[in-house]
Amino acid sequence: MKNFLKRLAAVISLSLLIFSAGIPIVSAEAFDPDYSEDNDVAAADEGMVVSAHPLASETGYDILANGGNAMDAAIAMQYVLTVAEPMMSGIGGGGFMMVYDGETGETSVINSRERAPAGADTEMFLDEDGEALPFEERVRSGKSVGVPGTLRGLEAAHETWGTVDMSALIAPAISIAEEGFMIDDFLSAQISDNAEKLQATAAAEVFFNDAEPLAEGDVLVQEDLAKTLNLIKDNGIDYFYNSEISKAAADAVQEFGGSMTPEDLSNYEITLDEPIWGEFNGYDIATMPPPSSGGIFMLQMLGMLDGFDLSQYDINSPEKYHLMAEAMHLAYADRAEYAGDPEFVHVPAEGLLHPDYIAERSTLISMDSVNEEPEAGDPWEYQTGTDEVNNVAQPNDKVDGQTTHFSVADKYGNVVSYTTTIEQVFGSGIMVPEYGFMLNNELTDFDAEPGGANEVQPNKRPLSSMTPTIVFDNGKPVMTAGSPGGQTIITSVLQTIINAYEYELDVHSAVTEPRIFTNDLESYRFEEGIPEEVISQLNEMGHNFEDESEAIGNVSSIQIDPVTGEFTGATDKNRNGAAYGLQSQQ
Ligand code: GLU
Repeated sequence: MKNFLKRLAAVISLSLLIFSAGIPIVSAEAFDPDYSEDNDVAAADEGMVVSAHPLASETGYDILANGGNAMDAAIAMQYVLTVAEPMMSGIGGGGFMMVYDGETGETSVINSRERAPAGADTEMFLDEDGEALPFEERVRSGKSVGVPGTLRGLEAAHETWGTVDMSALIAPAISIAEEGFMIDDFLSAQISDNAEKLQATAAAEVFFNDAEPLAEGDVLVQEDLAKTLNLIKDNGIDYFYNSEISKAAADAVQEFGGSMTPEDLSNYEITLDEPIWGEFNGYDIATMPPPSSGGIFMLQMLGMLDGFDLSQYDINSPEKYHLMAEAMHLAYADRAEYAGDPEFVHVPAEGLLHPDYIAERSTLISMDSVNEEPEAGDPWEYQTGTDEVNNVAQPNDKVDGQTTHFSVADKYGNVVSYTTTIEQVFGSGIMVPEYGFMLNNELTDFDAEPGGANEVQPNKRPLSSMTPTIVFDNGKPVMTAGSPGGQTIITSVLQTIINAYEYELDVHSAVTEPRIFTNDLESYRFEEGIPEEVISQLNEMGHNFEDESEAIGNVSSIQIDPVTGEFTGATDKNRNGAAYGLQSQQ
C-alpha cells in the first residue's frame, strides 16, 4: 500500500512537471529518493521500469503512467541518470540502446559509442620510451576522452519513436539538477573513493564542500548541469554539438592533454545496428554486435556450455563453476585476438559463432581438469576471409569500468534494454567547467599497445563489453538483461540467462544469484554467497579464485510472462536500484 500511494503521488507531481508547458512545478525542497530495498523487485500488468537509481525509475514510471512509450521513458531516464548517477553515464558518454518495437516487431540498436577524435593516433597511450602509460595516468588524461555520443543517440531514438515532446523528457532531469537530491551511501562512497581524480578538475566545486566530499544525506545540487540541460531543452541537441558547449568540452579535453576539437563533436555520428542473434534452450537472444565484444562472446559461451547440460549439477556446485570458468577462458582468448570496431577491422563473427567452431572449442573443456593454456582458436576456418591482425600483448593494469544498465517495457509491446556509460566511475574525472557534465574516459577501452584489432585510430570506437540483451520466446520478448562492469559484463549477462533459462530461477533470483568471473588463469573473482568449500575445491583443481568475495556488476532485468503479459522487474543488490511497475486500475 505504501508503495502504491507513493507511486500515485509521483504520478501527480511528475504529470504536472511533464505536462506544464515546460515549466517545472516542483517543491523547493530537494528530491528525496526512496533508496529502500523494498524496490528491488516489482510486478505489474501495464509496464515496468528498472534502473540503478530510484529517481530515474520514478521518472520512467511517470512517463509511462502519462501514456508515453518505453522509448520516451528511456530517453527521460538517461537524462535523469546524467544528474542522479553522474559517476556512471551521461551526456558526456555513450551507450547502446536496444529497442524492440512492439508495432513492427523489429529489434534494433542505437549505437552512440564514443569515437576517437580526428587527432588521436595509435601511439597516443605510449610514453617517450614506447612503453604504455600506466592505466591510472591514461584514465585522467584528456587523451582518454572519446567524442560523446549519448545525446545523438537520444535524438535518434526520439525521432524514430518519440511520442512525448523532447522538452518534457528533459524537464525532470533539470528539476533534479536544480533542486538537488539526497545522496545515498553508494554515490557518497564513489565521491570519496575518487576524491583525488575529481579534485583535479571543475568537479571539485560540485562534489565537495570545501575539501570535504559530499556524504550520504547531503543534497547534491548541479546548477551548471541544469544550465546545460536547459540550453539543450531550449535549442535542441544539435546545439550541444555545435556551440559554446562543444567548445567548452573541447577546451577542457585539451587542457588535460587531449586533442579533441569542436569539429570532432560537430562530426560525431551514431550508427543504427542490427543485433546479433543466438539461441539457447529454445529461446532466441538478441544481443550486442561489435564494436561490443559482449554479444558474440556471451553467445559463444552459451553455445559451449549448452553441450554440458549444466542444470544436472547443483547451481552452487564446483562442476558448474568449473565448466563456466573453462568456457570463459576460451571465449576471452578469442576476444583478445579478434574483437574490434567493425568499421575498421573485419571481426570474424560468423566463424566465432559457427556451431562447428563452438563444438571444436568445447572439446578443449574437460570435466576434471583445468586447461592450462587456453588460447585463441581460428574462426576464419569457419567463414570466408582471412586473419587481418594479431593479438598484441597488453599491460594488465586496466581496471574494469562501471556504468549503468536499465530497462523499460510498456503496454504497447515495446521493450528497451539500454547500457550506458562514461567508462570508469566519474569517467576521466574531467568536468566541463561552467557546463557541469563529466567527460568519459572511454578511449582507455582501446589497446594501449598498438598493432591489434583494437588499436587506437581516429574516429574509431573502442572495443566494448556492454551487452544489452533481449530474450524472445516464439518471437515475443520475455526478458531483458544487462550490467555494468567492464569485461565482467559479458559473463554477468551470461549467468543471468543461464540462471533464468537453464536453472529456471525467477527473475529476481536470476539477477541476484552469486556470479563468478575469470578471463584467464591469473584473474578470478567470485561473489558473496558461493560456499567457501566450493571455492577451495575449485582452487584445488587448479583454478585461482581470490580469497575474498567481491560484487561483480549490477544486473537488472525485466521479465515478461509470455502467457499473461505480466511484467516482473528486478534489480541487483549492490546499488540502490528500483523496479517500479505500472498497474492497471482493477
Ligand atoms: N567501458 C565499458 C565498456 O564499454 C563500460 C563501462 C563498464 O565497464 O561498465 O565495456
